[in-house]
Parts: sequence; C-alpha cells; structure tokens
Amino acid sequence: MPDLPALPVSELLALDRRHVWHPYGPMPGRVDPLVVESASGVRLRTSSGDLVDGMSSWWSAVHGYNHPVLNEAAREQLGRMSHVMFGGLTHEPAVRLAKLLVDMSPDGLEHVFLADSGSVSVEVAVKMCLQYWRSLGRGGKQRLLTWRGGYHGDTWQPMSVCDPEGGMHELWSGVLPRQVFVDAPPADYEEAYAEQLRAAIERHADELAAVIVEPVVQGAGGMRFHSPAYLRVLREACDAHDVLLVFDEIATGFGRTGALFAAEHAAVTPDVMCVGKALTGGYLTMAATLCTPRVAEGISRGEVPVLAHGPTFMGNPLAASVACASIGLLLGQDWLAEVKRIEAGLREGLAPARELPGVRDVRVLGAIGVVQLDHEVDMRAATEAAVREGVWLRPFRDLVYTMPPYVTGDEDVARIARAVCAAAKEG
Ligand SMILES: *Cc1c(COP(=O)(O)O)cnc(C)c1O
Repeated sequence: MPDLPALPVSELLALDRRHVWHPYGPMPGRVDPLVVESASGVRLRTSSGDLVDGMSSWWSAVHGYNHPVLNEAAREQLGRMSHVMFGGLTHEPAVRLAKLLVDMSPDGLEHVFLADSGSVSVEVAVKMCLQYWRSLGRGGKQRLLTWRGGYHGDTWQPMSVCDPEGGMHELWSGVLPRQVFVDAPPADYEEAYAEQLRAAIERHADELAAVIVEPVVQGAGGMRFHSPAYLRVLREACDAHDVLLVFDEIATGFGRTGALFAAEHAAVTPDVMCVGKALTGGYLTMAATLCTPRVAEGISRGEVPVLAHGPTFMGNPLAASVACASIGLLLGQDWLAEVKRIEAGLREGLAPARELPGVRDVRVLGAIGVVQLDHEVDMRAATEAAVREGVWLRPFRDLVYTMPPYVTGDEDVARIARAVCAAAKEG
C-alpha cells in the first residue's frame, strides 16, 4: 500500500477544523490547535517549534515521550499480541499489572478491575458501591456525596459528581442523577468544616452509597489543594454511618503530589480507588478500579453475584505491558527526590507571579504548580505567551498551571515557571 502523502500544515488544520472534535470544542473548530509532529523527552516538536511540555499530556506522561524502556515494552508486547478479549481469557501483562497495583496501593485494596479510561473506572467504582449495598439488601443507598470543586470525568455518573458550578451541570440538571454536595474543602484544616462533613454524611446516611472525592488535590475542577486531615474525617464518618469511601486518584496517583498515592498523606485506605492517567506513562489509555475484599465479597454474595461490567478492550495487553514497565521505571528510581526537586524549582520559579497584577494565588504541591488569576484567563494570549517562552501550557478558567514530567531537568523547570508567569501576565 502506498503511503498517504504527508499533509501540509495548512491543509491538515483546515481538515481538522472541519471534521475533528477536540476536547470541550465546538464543531466546526474556532481556534487552530498546534500540530505535533513528534515528541521526545520533555519536548514536543510542533508547528510552532520545539516546546517543553508543562502538562505531561494531562498528568499522564510522567517519564516524558519516546522513552526507550516504554517503547521496548510496547514493541515486545506487539510481537506477542496487542489485544485479546478478557472474557474467559487472561494473560501475564494484566495479572502482573494487577499484582503491582495491589502491592503499591494503600493496604487493604486487593482486587483490580481494569478499565479503558478514567471516566469508565469511576463508573465502575460507582457501580461497585451501589451494587454492594443492594447485595446487602439496602438498595435505598443509591446516592453519592462529594464536595464542590471536584472533577471525576465526562461520562454520566462522573459528571454528576463534578463541580456543579462548572457550567456543564446546569445544562444537564434534571437529567443527571442528583447527588449530595457539600462546600469545597478549605486549604487548611478547620474544625467547623470537618463538622459540616460529618453532619452531611450522618444526615444522608440512609440514601448514601458512597462518598467520592479526589484526595488532597482537586484537579480539573479548580486545581485546589486541601488538608489531608479531611480524608481521615471522611474515613471515620463513613465507617460510623455505613457509607463507602471512594478516592479518585486518577490525577494524583503515581507520585504526583509527593506520595505514591495522595491517600498516603493521611494514611487512609478507601474502600474503592480509581487510578488512570499516569498508569501507562501516558502511552495508552488504561485505568483501574481497586477495591477491598469487603466490597468484592459483598457484591459476590448478592442476588446477582457478579459485577456486570466488561469493556471490549478490558485488560488490553499492550496497555498493561506498558503500564508494568512504567511502574517499574517509577519505582526503580528515587521518584520522590525528582518530585521534590521539581517542587522546589516551581516554588522558586513561580514566586515572582505573586507580585503580578491580577494574580489571586500561587500554590505548589509536589510536581504541581498553580497560578490562580482574579479573572477568566485569555486562553489565546496566555498560550501564545507560553509558546514564546518555548513551553506548552493549557490554561483554563482562572488558572495557569503546570504538572511537568518527572524527568524535566532544572533548566526546563525554570523555563516552564517563566512561561507560567508570562502566561499569567499576558492572560
Ligand atoms: C482525568 C480525570 C478523570 C477522567 O479520566 P479520563 O481518562 O479522562 O476519562 C477522572 N477523575 C480525575 C480526578 C481526573 O483527573
């Protein structure tokens, strides 16, 4: 078969605008995306030149691009099989991955459901919780409680627990399941807020299947950080009132906050935990829902003693192989030292942003840096300012933020910080 002719950039963009949906985009598109030709290390080769990636492709590419070890894992697995169905069949990559996840996650999580995206892993988590109570004859426990400012994905159940102020919610009010919301968690521990959490869980206990939150860092819902002590409050209140606790670690997992999983900051084990994003080092789409024996046994004692979920690409061997290699890379190095190094670089490099007009807050935790403005960011001006500094950023709402790959060198961390400042100034 002859190769397709390479499209000139202008033609590619014209076709893109006309035919291709982009995340949260209109159709036809209104702004031209950058065209990426290839990526290596922390650099994207784009139609606007080489850019240092400040986004890790939305939290996922923690080891950078085109990594020889991950490439080799994919190549090796391709030579065996890229996919087989998971019903009635199993394979070493999936089994090894499940064992790795059980070993590295908080004690008590022992069973792994492999899903094909973060949103699906949250759907599975919700299904597990509802089915658990149904199996125990308490089918009235069907609602979820969460705090505002969260993000859990774009499919139906996840959307219902995303921040209700996000805009999309209003569009779907009356259609989405109605969940219980409490205020967003304050950054520091406040007893009055802890009391509010306890009271809400107690008040709604009869109808609550689970509390679901992002531990320590709320990502796409607003890039807010909160005291890990609230996770202990949730654990205790959930235990006291027969409610399950779900941690969505899809953004925070695999070291990003300075702990392997953010739950460790509070030494709390949830009943169900979702991971995704960095699971495959940003190579392939895969996520997982882990649960405790209590949840699994509860479901398996019910009138329908199975978890009725089974995506076509469940346990995909190619993704599972790369995930095993990515976890091996992470644990085979002093990942905490790298995250702390980036944290120090971001603290220093973002400090000048505090003096900029229009900046409301600057915060850094682990390998995450956030500049919050007092106005909606001008996406185009902010993105262009970052590109002029040689950096790829994707600001949203009132936020200019970065979560660089862990392999980002000190000079590139400084460059990213300069770009965040420039984007905050211009945006
Ligand atoms: C990105 C994200 C999701 C959704 O994952 P997808 O793979 O995009 O479906 C869910 N929860 C959190 C916390 C996320 O950051």
